[in-house]
Amino acid sequence: MTQNMSNKPVINTIANRLTTAHENIEQTRQKLRKSETKVNLMAVSKTKPISDVVEAYNAGQRIFGENYAQELADKSSELHHLTDIEWHYIGPIQSNKTKIIAESATWVDSIDRAKIAKRLQQHASELNKTLNVLIQVNISRSDKKSGVLLEDVEPLAAEIANCQQLTLRGLMAIPDKSDESQLRQEFLQMQTCFQTLKQQYPMVDTLSLGMSGDMEIAIECGSTMVRLGTALFGERTTK
Ligand SMILES: *Cc1c(COP(=O)(O)O)cnc(C)c1O
Repeated sequence: MTQNMSNKPVINTIANRLTTAHENIEQTRQKLRKSETKVNLMAVSKTKPISDVVEAYNAGQRIFGENYAQELADKSSELHHLTDIEWHYIGPIQSNKTKIIAESATWVDSIDRAKIAKRLQQHASELNKTLNVLIQVNISRSDKKSGVLLEDVEPLAAEIANCQQLTLRGLMAIPDKSDESQLRQEFLQMQTCFQTLKQQYPMVDTLSLGMSGDMEIAIECGSTMVRLGTALFGERTTK
């Protein structure tokens, strides 16, 4: 339980945690005197019940991230009446799931190969919709992580630029767990790549870096979107 100023215990509701997260983002930004750049907060609701999503929505949250295609489809269809939710698909993409992802998502943040971009383009065209997309970068060059290597960002961006129904908005990365200086170095490499991409593609405005454990460092390194799961919804017990 956190304490407020008067030292009375504060109940940790999702709404309270959201307020705290926004305060932390603000404080970090002010420390940097980077008040001109907005940092968006994505609520990562994977494995959490619909009631948690609704609770966050009622507290003003609009951007949600999901990792599993079927779970995204189920939640977005159940909440289709909340038309201003921005659903981000942030999980690994199997090609047999591109259709349901294209149907349910507003953004696809984990594109890591041209084949997936082409399939999403095809589905989005059939659905007569546009998808905002991010390229996922395997910044730690890990065998286990999805994402393209930094040097492969440009060719994939060029492929995406040829897809009329896809709007390239930027980059996402999930670094390996490592010490702070390594993490900072990797985030800064992402920032450099992001700046280059921004000059080539006018719609690029999103650098999705930082989760519950490393949000402050990510913001210091130029993140424009932090992705918070545990910090808002508590520990995940399943999957
Ligand atoms: C689960 C997940 C998160 C949230 O992680 P927390 O540490 O719970 O904040 C963020 N981004 C991605 C891609 C995830 O899969």
